[in-house]
Parts: sequence; structure tokens; C-alpha cells
Amino acid sequence: MPIRRHLAALLLLACAPAWAEPVAVRCGRLFDARSGQLKGPHTLVVADGRIQQVVSGADAETGGARQVDLRDKVCLPGWTDLHVHLGSQSSPQSYSEGFRLDPVDHAFRAVGYAEKTLMAGFTSVRDLGGEVGPHLRDAINQGLLKGPRIFAAGKSIATTGGHADPTNGWNDQLSHLVGPPGPTEGVINSVDQARQAVRQRYKDGSDVIKITATGGVLSYARSGDAPQFTVDEIKAIVDTAHDYGFRVAAHAHGTEGMKRAVLGGVTSIEHGTYMDEEIMGLMKQRGTWYIPTFYAGRFVTEKAAIDGYFPEVVRPKAARIGALISQTAARAYRSGVRIAFGTDQGVGPHGDNAREFIYMVEAGIPAAYALQAATVHAAQVLGVDDQGVLEAGKRADVIALAANPLEDINAVMDVRFVMKDGVIYRQ
Ligand SMILES: [Zn+2]
Repeated sequence: MPIRRHLAALLLLACAPAWAEPVAVRCGRLFDARSGQLKGPHTLVVADGRIQQVVSGADAETGGARQVDLRDKVCLPGWTDLHVHLGSQSSPQSYSEGFRLDPVDHAFRAVGYAEKTLMAGFTSVRDLGGEVGPHLRDAINQGLLKGPRIFAAGKSIATTGGHADPTNGWNDQLSHLVGPPGPTEGVINSVDQARQAVRQRYKDGSDVIKITATGGVLSYARSGDAPQFTVDEIKAIVDTAHDYGFRVAAHAHGTEGMKRAVLGGVTSIEHGTYMDEEIMGLMKQRGTWYIPTFYAGRFVTEKAAIDGYFPEVVRPKAARIGALISQTAARAYRSGVRIAFGTDQGVGPHGDNAREFIYMVEAGIPAAYALQAATVHAAQVLGVDDQGVLEAGKRADVIALAANPLEDINAVMDVRFVMKDGVIYRQ
């Protein structure tokens, strides 16, 4: 035991802040996430993990504070990716790996994925499905690992045969051996089971609830868009979630399932592929957020063209979805649906999350709005008010780019500085 304790102490030292005194971050320019505008030089005074002061000018007097010189860079609030799966990353082996890998294998992979995500400028993520999420969150918060602040869903909630039924595609022998999955495993078939599944996630340490309101592209099943919950089941999930202070994110491609999710009171629609005018109207009325996940759409369309990358039951779904997501998101933006940032990374490669900004701009969303989607909008989706803007009292989540992303969105791929909770991870 003493050896283990020593090891833990060493690990903590390795990741803990190397200083306790205030830090002055001197920025050449500053992205004001509230207005979407770029301001001139500013100095951020950081202490105890928070921004204590934002002073105009990059040469402001800051006493004995440690200096960080970003005077030739653009500072922004740390980004949030609202849709990742840190426990996995798709490859042609993904489907067979389900039978070969243990949870601990996924956990070790997640360690690397989390660090890549943070270094790419993402100081927060919502991990929308995967048992590793709550555990990874705790290890990062304890200073044992480097990674973003995680808002974890734990295992997604599905219905039998639905997207996120963990036994889809299994042969009869295996299925009979294990038995049908239930609310503990995130599979429900009634209002009572819906409540039980949410309470189980509370017990498992989730921060947010994820449901799969329609079929999905990558599940081993025919339909990518069939509705998979009744409105009553969704309402039971949302009501129970609210008892515990959870919000609900709904994966949805098809219109009927999406409409039920919006009417059932979910906070966000993920993917939203076949979103029609009626649903856009309902979402605006009810303040439902849209997280398009352009990245996942483009990624699966590209991979569907490669023989053997996906099982044949998945391939036609993957081929259809990508282009549609871009078109839908462009229409939703024009119609005034509120959009926030999420990639569905874990489908695509972790650490490449910022490319989503480029896809958003290509679809006609202004760069400033895309950056707001990953900062102020993301904080609203999460229901937190202490991140997403560079203001006194907020968490010191600060990143810096070498160039101005409002002039050329490709600048988002060149992150030169990352601070999370006042600790510098990249400089
Ligand atoms: Zn996802």
C-alpha cells in the first residue's frame, strides 16, 4: 500500500499546477464570445483557477504575477465539444473489437484520446455515451490524467434493437447466454423502465442523459431513422432526469423520432439529419438546441466508399447521411434554430475536433457564430454559467491561436496555448 500511495502522490505532482501565484496572460487580441467580436490587446489576471481581472492593453501592470506572453496571438475562451465518445474511435476493426476488448482496454485508449482533445483547445467536452466517461472525468478532476473537463452521460439509453442496444448484431447463442439487456445496461421498453434507467445513471455518476431517439448510422441494424421511443417514454426520461438536475441529449436522424424528442422536452437534438420545417419551428418555440455533428456526417460518408470499412448493413446508411447533415444544418441556421458545437468524435479521430469549425463555415455559418457555438452556446447547453467567456469570475479556460479565425477559419487548427482551470497544458 505505501508504494501505491507514493505512486499516486507522484502522479499528482506531475499534473498539479506548478505555481500558486497569479499569472498574467497577455493577449494580442481577445475573442469576445458574447458579441462574437475580436477585441484589441488585453491582459487576463488568473489566480486560483479563475480569471480575476480582464484589463485593457497587453502591457497592463500586474505586480509580481508570472508572465505569459501571447501578444502576437489571439486568445479565446477554451472550446467545448458537446458530443464526443472518449472511450472509442471507429476503425474497420470496431465491430469485432466489441467482442475482444475489455472495459479496461477502452479506458487506456480513452486516456490518450482525452489528452489529444485538451491539446487541440477543447477544455470541456460532453461525453455522450460510453461507460468510461464518469470514471475518466473523476481521474482528470483528481489531477491523475490530462484531459478536458468532462460532462459524462455514461451508457446511452436505447430501446430493444435500437441504436445503443449493446447486443445488436449478436448471434442467438450469445444473446441467449447473456440474456436481454435491461435498464441497467441502458435498454428500456416502458415508462417504468425509462425512469429506472435514468436513476441507474444517477447511481453510476452521470452528469447528463443521452437517449437514442431514432436508429443510428453505425449500429448493426437496418434503419438509421425509425422512431425508437414513445413520447411517454421520452417524457418519463426527461421528467426523471430533471429530478436529478440532468439535461437530456437526444440522438435523432428521422423526423418522427426527432419530433417526439422535442415534444418530450429534451435539451438538444444531435445530428438532426431529416429535420423538417415543422420541427425547426417547434425547436425555436421550445428553445431546443441543435448540435449538427458535421464531422461525423462527413467522416462516415467518406468511409462508406471504402470496401470493408463498415459492415454491409451499415454502409448504405453511412453513404446517405453525410451530405444531408450539412444541408440540414445550413437550413436550420438560416431559419434561426440555435446551434451549438459537437463533432461526435469517436466516430472521427479524437484531437481533430476543431475541423468542425471549418465544416460549419463551409456550410454558410459565420465564423464568429461557429466560435460562439463552442463557447457561450455550449455553456448554455450544459446549463453552467462559469465558462465559455473570458470575464472576471469565470473559470480560467483560455486558448490562443496563431492567427485570426474570423479572417481565415483554418486558424482553428493551429492552437498554440491551452490553459484549463488556470493550469497551463500547452505553450
Ligand atoms: Zn454520438
